[in-house]
Amino acid sequence: MPTIDEIPKRRSVHDLTFSALQQELVEAGINPFHALKLWSTLHRQAVKTLEEQTDFVPPVQRWIREKIGARESARHFFQETPEPVADIASSDGLTRKFLLRLHDGQTIETVVMGYPRRFTACVSTQAGCAMGCVFCATGQMGFVRHLEPGEIVGQVLHAQRALRAAGHSGLRNLVLMGMGEPLHNYDSVMTALDIISDTAGINLGPSRISVSTVGVVPGILRMAREKRPYLLAVSLHGATEEERAALVPVSRRWPLSELIAACRTYGDTTGQRILFGWTLIAGVNDTPAHAERIAVLLKGIDAHINLIPLNPTGGFSGSTTQEEAAQAFKSVLQAAGFPSTIRQRRGIDVAAGCGQLKAVRNPA
Ligand code: SAH
Ligand code: SF4
Repeated sequence: MPTIDEIPKRRSVHDLTFSALQQELVEAGINPFHALKLWSTLHRQAVKTLEEQTDFVPPVQRWIREKIGARESARHFFQETPEPVADIASSDGLTRKFLLRLHDGQTIETVVMGYPRRFTACVSTQAGCAMGCVFCATGQMGFVRHLEPGEIVGQVLHAQRALRAAGHSGLRNLVLMGMGEPLHNYDSVMTALDIISDTAGINLGPSRISVSTVGVVPGILRMAREKRPYLLAVSLHGATEEERAALVPVSRRWPLSELIAACRTYGDTTGQRILFGWTLIAGVNDTPAHAERIAVLLKGIDAHINLIPLNPTGGFSGSTTQEEAAQAFKSVLQAAGFPSTIRQRRGIDVAAGCGQLKAVRNPA
């Protein structure tokens, strides 16, 4: 009898990259040429149930009948169709937050933000997060589990379907800034991004995809080594070891000095600009002196700094930096030669802003 760990896990068909899907067909004696139509039906058309599609050649039709949907067997695939438990629009109508239930009942959040003629999805990479940043609702709930590649892809497909149903053309940008730390779930995230950026599928260009990390140094160096073509965003929040560690506990494991060294290596290896994120907390890290310290710390790095005024969360009592102070902070950075943007506050009234995401089973 195999032990529970030896029983292969049943996989989602959305976990498969194009070449893995092709391989599955070959193993079933089907010409790999047929994989393209199956792939584009799954990813480009974003159909929910393959069984309802009738225009495949008979061997593929048979493969679908035999391989898909038989939930009890590990040799079969299931289709990643996260179930929306809630779909909440912000009062300005520009942000929509989906609470999605995964196949094991776990809930995660996906946010779609609309700007004139372009939509950005903000997806989760883990249920909860192990990094414990004090001001972040996801950090406050703790770590639940990693998401599989198909569960990350499934969120993008859900957002695509929702946009198309509302008469829009679909997503233009993707940010991995929902629940979780992407580089703590490196392999699944990179497989998901391979799938999402495939030109015959969802086709989101790599330069339109941002991977945001709290500073998992080995992950940053691995991205550089593997020449991953995505944008890197690094959440900084403090410009001295002490100040940063007070907000970002994981900074004790990967100190600021190592993080900045890794950013320099990343910049030198890839030639890419790095986006730094700085959550502005009134009286904590929002004075002109803090901005000056950032400028010294990042000297020589091709950097853009995104300033995110703190969004309220239940477990943190800090308050938001007001507009005037945020502008003054930005001016110091710009005078030192660092382009900087104050992030528009989006979706705050439905708790869909940065750092406000957490799983709630019974949303209001
Ligand atoms: N774990 C990754 C990505 C998800 S968090 C990371 O930390 O980068 C996405 C962004 O939201 C990060 O820049 C984070 O610092 C920011 N954030 C978290 N909580 C916030 C809050 N309460 N208000 C404003 N920004 C917040
Ligand atoms: Fe995790 Fe990012 Fe939140 Fe920190 S800010 S707890 S790393 S999700």
